[in-house]
Amino acid sequence: MESNLLKIGVIGVGHLGQHHVKHFCSIDGINFLGLFDTNTNQANAISKKFKVKAFENIDNLIDSVDAVSIVTPTTYHASVAEKCIRKKKHVFIEKPITSTIEEADKLLALAKKNKVIVQVGHIERLNPALRALEPYKISPKFIEIQRLAPYNTRGTDVPVVLDKMIHDIDIVLSLVDSKVRSISASGLSILTDSIDIAHAQIKFENGCVSSITSSRIAKDEVRKIKTFQQNLYSTVDLYKGLTEVYTVSKKGLDKKSFLMSVPFNYNNKTRHIIYEKPTIIKEDALKLELINFTNSMKGLEMPIVSGQSGREALNVAIEIQEKIIKGFIS
Ligand code: NAD
Repeated sequence: MESNLLKIGVIGVGHLGQHHVKHFCSIDGINFLGLFDTNTNQANAISKKFKVKAFENIDNLIDSVDAVSIVTPTTYHASVAEKCIRKKKHVFIEKPITSTIEEADKLLALAKKNKVIVQVGHIERLNPALRALEPYKISPKFIEIQRLAPYNTRGTDVPVVLDKMIHDIDIVLSLVDSKVRSISASGLSILTDSIDIAHAQIKFENGCVSSITSSRIAKDEVRKIKTFQQNLYSTVDLYKGLTEVYTVSKKGLDKKSFLMSVPFNYNNKTRHIIYEKPTIIKEDALKLELINFTNSMKGLEMPIVSGQSGREALNVAIEIQEKIIKGFIS
């Protein structure tokens, strides 16, 4: 193996971490050195499955690599990342960046001091269905997002806001080019001691309003985004990989066009609703974000989700949680 290749390891190889291992094993131009997990049986099983080294000691792994993917439960992100950053290793941290803002700020300050990259696994940003909106001028005035999932013990170390809603908070912050003006939220516990269902309304200084509903006790998996703005309405099904865009045009389409247009009349003027279903290129979003991480370290690309973006999403999530908890008490 060439010695100048970036050396990478994965810490935490449970449900998701094993996929990080799988992808790093297939990404060109890097040297995947191995993994560490506090559960030795799990570490050995994944080591055997992908024929990679399981380190017996976390420090040995960190000392051997240039960069680490941290895929432990959220409550350990801060302590593991701090260890890595203090040893001047770049880190890819699964979402949410940490459990608290204080932890996130400490990591970002340390990363700046040690000149290393912190990237966060807000994977939905790489979802091809969401990326299909990129050619359109999306500048929403209203966004509605629903994320529902059947109950699963994994992720219940944190409330649903940090486990599920944070994906959509990050999406909203990436779609709206304005500062948050105010947040209102409500929620309740159903199966755990923390928040299982949450609704938040985030208002922005430019007038945009977003409404996000998240539940981890639903029957079926739903992940849908609707955006509304003057003359443009889009729906994105992140789960099924389907994007539809409706725009308004003065002209209808000629018969050769594959698009559909429907005339409508308003104020004695006829205009046309154009319906488009952009082609979705099916790609593995996790692999794309790990490639982006390796390219960021090589200076070829900017991180799609920086540590700072992860911190901003967490900041909004924490405020939502606080508002919900206040509502519990009063
Ligand atoms: P998991 O419980 O299946 O796996 C976590 C693994 O980390 C376990 O094998 C555990 O033994 C190990 N571990 C625990 N503490 C450790 C430590 N201090 N050092 C090393 N290993 C340790 O959890 P998961 O579902 O894989 O989730 C892991 C992280 O990934 C969480 O932060 C979660 O929020 C995130 N996640 C993100 C997405 C996404 O869509 N981006 C999806 C699922 C999970």
